[in-house]
Amino acid sequence: KEKMLEVKDLRTHFYTHDGLVPAVDGVSFNIRKGETLCIVGESGSGKSVTAMSVLKLVPIPPGKYVSGEVIFNGEDLLKKSNEEMRKIRGNDIAMIFQEPMTSLNPVFTVGNQICETVMLHQGLNKGEAMKVAVEMLRKVGIPSPEKRVKEYPHQLSGGMRQRVMIAMALSCNPTLLIADEPTTALDVTIQAQILDLMRKMKKETHSSIMFITHDLGVVAEMADRVVVMYGGKIVEEGSVEEIFNDAKHPYTKGLLKSIPTLKGKRKEDLYVIEGMVPSMYKLPRGCKFNPRCEYAMDICKNKEPSLKVIDNDEERKCACWLLEKGDVL
Ligand code: SF4
Ligand code: MG
Repeated sequence: KEKMLEVKDLRTHFYTHDGLVPAVDGVSFNIRKGETLCIVGESGSGKSVTAMSVLKLVPIPPGKYVSGEVIFNGEDLLKKSNEEMRKIRGNDIAMIFQEPMTSLNPVFTVGNQICETVMLHQGLNKGEAMKVAVEMLRKVGIPSPEKRVKEYPHQLSGGMRQRVMIAMALSCNPTLLIADEPTTALDVTIQAQILDLMRKMKKETHSSIMFITHDLGVVAEMADRVVVMYGGKIVEEGSVEEIFNDAKHPYTKGLLKSIPTLKGKRKEDLYVIEGMVPSMYKLPRGCKFNPRCEYAMDICKNKEPSLKVIDNDEERKCACWLLEKGDVL
């Protein structure tokens, strides 16, 4: 399938009083038409900054796009002006974030906010746009949408607000939807409903999704392909089957062992990857995972392994010295 987004050697760094933070440090991946790519990692792995970079929403300064390209529809988004990006965001590329309260405007009704987006991007008048708004709310499973359009964000529950965000995101038929931890703030039942809704919407609209999460349980539900990030870099990439059945990187394996939702594990039995997530200010030498890795060798402490294609598959990659040594993982 055709590539619809190509991120090439993206480096987004932050220059702060406490030093340089290489939040995203040489990241490359593709998203194909109609595909869901999950970017997974602990907080501070650089996954959100990757999403923000694609949207060109990183605050500059302290942030800086040090290098790289973000090719969307054949054009490099990093070369676009802010004005051009405003037209692309919410039109060709839509986004959903973790806490919809911060992305919804508290002083406007839900209907007016959807209308504003629809009028801006589809050139409809207010009356037509309000009909679209009601229809969208119905589609995302909000009961009595004619009444709900007149309500304010604070009158809705967290789950309902996230449905409104999805309605807004999809009301412009985006070709790419970027979702950053969209269900993390919701309880499990509501989370399952929202993921269901997103899958259904994706099928209907054939859009591609970049889905950012720390939760491999969510990855299992949503992903076609997976990119695992650690310390600002990709450490493993593969199809969802490859990641769950044949993970190669010790970090990915650790994440898999710590999933609570699979195979009815009890909370007490959960595996925990020992050690702290490294501070982006003070990343270790060599492999960034080495202080936490049970397989770490001398070379791991001195030299960083590069991300290498494995199995002759351009979309199957891993960065670990064990693979170079030919050890079977
Ligand atoms: Fe562990 Fe070394 Fe592989 Fe890093 S390179 S994950 S420290 S074995
Ligand atoms: Mg984040």
